[in-house]
Amino acid sequence: MTEGADRAPAPGADAVADRVTAGVDAWLRWLPAWQPGTHRGRSRMCRRCTGSPLLVAAGIEGEVPHQVAHALTSRMQRIIDRLVDDYTERELPALHAELTGEQLWHTGGFEPGAGLDPEYDGLDLDPETEDGQPFLFTMAELAEQSKPEPPLPRPPLSREEKQRLRQEVEEAGRYADDVGQQLCFALAGHRPRIRAAVARFVEPQIRAMLDELSQHLEPPS
Ligand SMILES: [Zn+2]
Repeated sequence: MTEGADRAPAPGADAVADRVTAGVDAWLRWLPAWQPGTHRGRSRMCRRCTGSPLLVAAGIEGEVPHQVAHALTSRMQRIIDRLVDDYTERELPALHAELTGEQLWHTGGFEPGAGLDPEYDGLDLDPETEDGQPFLFTMAELAEQSKPEPPLPRPPLSREEKQRLRQEVEEAGRYADDVGQQLCFALAGHRPRIRAAVARFVEPQIRAMLDELSQHLEPPS
C-alpha cells in the first residue's frame, strides 16, 4: 500500500447492496414476531440508534419502538463492521496486528455480550430494573471478575509503529465512512418494503396499546 493521499477503494456497490438486501430480508422475517416489550421503562439513550443515519435512510427514524429500530441498525452495523474487518485484515497490517493482539488479550473471560442476536446486540447488558431495585450482581461485574490476567506485558510500540498505526486507524475510519454511505444508499432503496412492514406489523400493535391506555384513563362515569 502506498503512503499519503491514496484513498482505499470502497467495496463494490453490489457487494454492499447484496448484503443490505439479505439484512433487510432477515429483519422482515423477524418483524412479524415482534411484540411491544414488557420493559417499556427503558430511558437510557441508545448510542447506536439515536440520530442514526441508517434509520433516516430506512425511512423509520423516530417512528418505531426502539427494539424495532435497533434490530435493523444492528444488522446494518454488522455489515459495516464485517467489511471494515475484512479490509483491515487485507490492507492494514499494523492495525490488524494491534486488534488481533487486543483480542488475544481479552479472550478467555466471560463475555456476556458475545453471540447475541442482533435485536440485543449493543444494548445495555444491565438495563435499569423497573422498580429501581438493584440487581444482586451485574453482568458487567461478572465479566470483570472472570477476566484473566494478561499473560505478558506487551512491548511498547516504536515511534514509527505508532505513526503507522495512527495512519491505518484513519484509513479504516475513512473506509468505514465510505461503506456507511454506500450502505445508506442501498438501504434507502428498501424503504417501501420497510415502511409497509412497519404499517402492517408494528403500527396496529401500537394503536392497540394506546387504545387500551386511553380506556384506563377515561374518568369513571
Ligand atoms: Zn438501539
